[in-house]
Order: sequence, then C-alpha cells, then structure tokens
Amino acid sequence: MLVSVSGSSYERGVLAGRQLAPAIRANVENFWISLEAAGFSRSSLIGRLDQWKPDENQIDEISGMSKSSGISVPDLRAFNCYKKIFFPDECTMMMAMGDTTPSGNTIYLKNSDKVGGKELVGEKYHSFKEINVIKFEKAEDGTRIIGVSAAGETGLKMGINDKGVATGSNISRTTELKNRKVDLTRIRALDRAELLRRGLYYPNALQAGKAILDEILENPMATPGNVHFADSSGVYLLEGSYDRVATQHLKEGVAIRANGFVLLRDLNDPNDISTQARYIRGTTLLQENRGNLTTDKFVQFSQDHENGPGLNSICRHNPDYSKETSLSAMVMEIDRNSPANSQIRICLGKPCHAWNNPAGNISLTAGARIEDVPDAYKNGSAWKQFYSEIPYQAA
Ligand SMILES: [Zn+2]
Repeated sequence: MLVSVSGSSYERGVLAGRQLAPAIRANVENFWISLEAAGFSRSSLIGRLDQWKPDENQIDEISGMSKSSGISVPDLRAFNCYKKIFFPDECTMMMAMGDTTPSGNTIYLKNSDKVGGKELVGEKYHSFKEINVIKFEKAEDGTRIIGVSAAGETGLKMGINDKGVATGSNISRTTELKNRKVDLTRIRALDRAELLRRGLYYPNALQAGKAILDEILENPMATPGNVHFADSSGVYLLEGSYDRVATQHLKEGVAIRANGFVLLRDLNDPNDISTQARYIRGTTLLQENRGNLTTDKFVQFSQDHENGPGLNSICRHNPDYSKETSLSAMVMEIDRNSPANSQIRICLGKPCHAWNNPAGNISLTAGARIEDVPDAYKNGSAWKQFYSEIPYQAA
C-alpha cells in the first residue's frame, strides 16, 4: 500500500525547491566538486543515469524541486542516485524497549554522521558536509511523516510517522566493503534513505519491516547496512549485505548499532575501531540507565564525548573534512496510547552544540504540521549556525 500520489510528490518537491534553493545548490555544488576532485567527471556520471530506476514519487519530487529551485533535473537526479554509493550515512542508533523506560514507551535515537567514501579521501578533498533540514511528507491516506534529510535529497536519514513507526539506518563497515572499489554498476541498488521513507508509509513496524525486507531480498542495498523500524511493540532490526540478510524482532531490552552488524557480525571489519568504541560505550550507557531511560537521557547520549571528542565518541568530531562526523540527531519516544502524540526531538548541526542552544533543537509531536516548525529548521540556516567541528564547552 504505497499511497503517496505523484501529484503530492511533485508539490512537495516544488515547496522544497522554493524554500531550500540555496541549501540544495550548496549541497549539489559541493557534491560535484568532491566527486570531480576524486577523478569522477560530471558528464560521465550523468551519462550513466539512464540505468537508475527511481520510483515515480522520487521522479516527481525531483521534477518539482528542479522547477522551483532552478537546479537542473540531471544534477538533482545525480545527487540522489550517487549519494548512496559515494556518501553513505555512518551514524549511531540506540534504542530502548518499553520494559526499560519509565514511560513504558519505546525510545529510538539516531545520530547522523557523514561524510565520504574512501575513494574521496585525499589532498584535494573538498569541505563537503551536507546541510541537514527537517522534512515533512503527507501520504495520500493522510499519514504524516517527519524526518531529517540533506537538502535536495528525496529520502530520509531518520524519521517517524503519526502511526508511531520510527526509523533509522546506517552503513556497516564490513571487510567486503573495505576491499571493494567504488562500483558504479550499483546504480540500481537500493538507497537506504528511500527505504526508510517508503517504510514510513506503513501503519506499524511489522508491515514496514516486511515490505522493506522484501525489497532488500530482491535487490541488495548499495552498501552493507542496518535498517530499523520501531513501534510500541519493539523494533525490527534488518541487517543486509551484498548476498545475505538477517532480521531480529526485539521486544524487550536495549540495543545499539554503530557501523557494524550484530546478527551478521562475522562480516564486520575487525579494524574499524570507531564502531567497536561506540558500540561498547553505547551499550554501557544503555545498561547503566536501564529502567530510567528517558528522551533527556538519549539527548545526553547523543552528545557523549567518551573516547573523544573525536571519531570514536558517539558525538563525532574531526577537523579533517573527509572524516565522518555528526551532523544532526533525532530522538523519538513512541507514545503507545496515542501515536500521533509521540514526542520527537531534533537537533540540526553538531549534537553537542545544537542540543545546548534553544535555537539548535526543537521538540514536536509526530502529528505536527509543517507550519509548526520555524523556517530556520526547514531552510538550512539552523544547521549552518550549529555545525562546527569544535567540541562544545559548557560556559
Ligand atoms: Zn560533540
């Protein structure tokens, strides 16, 4: 039951293009500068785009965005197609089921980290950090979706719908990923950001998980990774690599995913220290606070600088632009009695800065309307104000 109609996707694109044109232009220009510095030409990448098969909603949203922003359709299509290959989301996800929270509700956190695949690292590396914004979507059946995206991106880094389904994803740093060269034949492979968005058209985590698992079985994701759908019954954890998939339904307890698998742990790159450090630290925080896990606690976890501040802490910092660092975070508490009233908290920019300034973060409910959110969170200006690689110091 994919219900978002083409008309509304086009209009959503027009609205995004109108409101976000400078931020989208900055993201698309930096994207090309980064790829060209790494030796990939714009014309050859655009030339391969006919192999990409986005769904109709994505095509319509891109058309609308192009019309109102003045950025060409091929540029926007390339940005959306190649991001999944060259700029996969790193990130840390932490979650607590109802038996571990005072409210009895499921709580889900994602810290969104970027940037860059290993092909793009080098002297010429451009200072590309994507501008993050809050994104709204309304499906034809009225389901409301709120999440965080890069300006110009059709998919979601993380989000929730007003039926009380929350989602997040990240890349898994496996040995196979490390040994693969960037593979442009993977244009047709699935984009996790789109899978999250499509999952949120469903009314519960089971249906979302089943639908997206089905897609992953048919066609693997562009890079190995984790995809989660949580609701008040728990969370469905999907782990997918190039040739295998594993799933778990977690109904109690706590869990964390840094950039590695747990069910498919044999595939993990043993030299990925950051993943191991964040996994151990996150597990400790969740276990120490078991029974007392609130959204305030998750907001604190999102800023945690243990083992850092640096690449090994949950709030990730590094002055080198080619390293993956934290760019936004979202905490979602799923209200099991009234899903549309689920509390969500979003910070844009570096979590330790944005959570500590009232202008850098916002609290909403899952049923919030686009008008409820100040423009700064929708046009990129909040992100620009609170993005910094310098760790926050309390005054
Ligand atoms: Zn920090």
